[in-house]
Amino acid sequence: RETPSYAIPLPSALYAPERRNSAGLDLSDENTLRHLADAFLTQAPTSADTQGERITNPADTNDIVGHIRFLSSEETDTAIARADIAFAEWSRAPSDQRALLLERAADALEAETASLMALIIREAGKTLANAVAEIREAVDFLRYYAVRIREQGSQTRPLGPVACISPWNFPLAIFLGQVSAALAAGNTVLAKPAEETPLIAREAVRLLHEAGIPEHVIQLVPGDGRAGAQLVGDTRITAVLFTGSTDVARLIQKQLAGRLNSDGTPVPFIAETGGQNALIVDSSALTEQVVADVLASAFDSAGQRCSALRLLCLQEDSADRVLTMLKGAMQELRTGTPERPDTDVGPVITAEARDMMRAHVDALASQGHRVFQTDLTPEAASGTFFPPTLIEIGSVSDLKKEVFGPVLHVLRYKREAVSDVMKAINATGYALTFGLHSRIDETIETLKKQSHAGNVYINRNLVGAVVGVQPFGGHGLSGTGPKAGGPLYLRRLLSQKAPMEAA
Ligand code: NAP
Repeated sequence: RETPSYAIPLPSALYAPERRNSAGLDLSDENTLRHLADAFLTQAPTSADTQGERITNPADTNDIVGHIRFLSSEETDTAIARADIAFAEWSRAPSDQRALLLERAADALEAETASLMALIIREAGKTLANAVAEIREAVDFLRYYAVRIREQGSQTRPLGPVACISPWNFPLAIFLGQVSAALAAGNTVLAKPAEETPLIAREAVRLLHEAGIPEHVIQLVPGDGRAGAQLVGDTRITAVLFTGSTDVARLIQKQLAGRLNSDGTPVPFIAETGGQNALIVDSSALTEQVVADVLASAFDSAGQRCSALRLLCLQEDSADRVLTMLKGAMQELRTGTPERPDTDVGPVITAEARDMMRAHVDALASQGHRVFQTDLTPEAASGTFFPPTLIEIGSVSDLKKEVFGPVLHVLRYKREAVSDVMKAINATGYALTFGLHSRIDETIETLKKQSHAGNVYINRNLVGAVVGVQPFGGHGLSGTGPKAGGPLYLRRLLSQKAPMEAA
């Protein structure tokens, strides 16, 4: 290909490594596992606090993880008033000062890794490996936005009190990702965690306060969807950061359309939402690699990642070979107690979520679609588990809503129809992650260009975007952008000044 005449040299690294990502823990090391087991026994929070909503363990619904009192609407109102007052001082703090406090919180998070892991595992049902990854990502967000705000220097102006509304599936990493960006930019924050996972959010806010961030600069607003709606509707809230379902993002957008900020300005809104993520596998792909990547993409985190694989498209010439090996590998997955080092798949978040998955699979089975399901371990009887499942479907349009769990749809396609499959995937309107397994350069180049997805993966799995290395986020029904963990995110949370003086 010819180089265009207007080409200019690009920097070799767009996201320069001016900080290191967190190293995490080595779970193959026996001493580490012993240390974690001790920490889990001694530091796992007890249900000593018995006031408020009861939070139970999805892996063992008789295990009460703790309690938390939801704020009344009057208390939420007071919290917003406090955030409004606190903004005057926090917004004037030098950006370097705010960065330092976030970095102190990151250090504290790393120091408390074991007890935070214990809580995430009990409250959200994460496996050991997923809990380590979650803490690493949270630490990375704190340090990443600290570095980014230092770069911005003093030529910026924050917005005011900001609402951060987060989901249960990354109850620490996404919670702190939103919060740290808003704080770094100089805004004050009202953080509404998901109602299923407020306890780990409470710990995160404790660590931010202990690091020196004033109490009214970051306040937790435990509550259900109504607390979120109250924040969204309040004219003192100057911007909304939301991660969750596409349906709730639509509700928030509608609510925001009905109001302006107290100074009459429109309200900035960042929404990071769901996906119908697909992987196309042609007959040139390496079967063993495909199977390993499908397991990681569809069933890790019990499929409860927005990036998780929902639709596996197999070229029909090699489909049977891939499916035979995939089913064999799925049978080796251990679905059970998440803190066991040999468990691959933990519980789904609630009985309601499990029942929705059951209903979805039953409906497709009753229409004649072939279903393959693995076995659960006996211990799964005490929690809300759903077995890794494959369902063969006839067309991309059989996918209706995002099914947020370990359910993978399989579609066979003819080689000459690959572009039509790609078009149908784009036509779902979701555009979060997309993957391709192929060893044909032309196919790779063509589909990479055609895909609308925000994050595209070639010959690897679809999950685990790394802060500052591969910024994450989608378009269309999957989100408004900008990408989390990327250089543009902070810019939505502040206004930039462009001063100019006469020479
Ligand atoms: P959700 O039901 O949309 O809830 C997300 C948050 O919004 C929760 O804190 C929820 O509170 C709150 N909320 C509910 N109704 C509200 C309203 N009317 N106004 C304001 N806030 C309201 O999502 P989820 O089940 O927690 O999370 C799973 C979804 O998140 C999936 O669709 C997944 O794809 C998506 N997700 C996307 C990304 C991404 O980066 N694109 C990342 C992770 C997850 P309650 O908990 O009290 O209902």
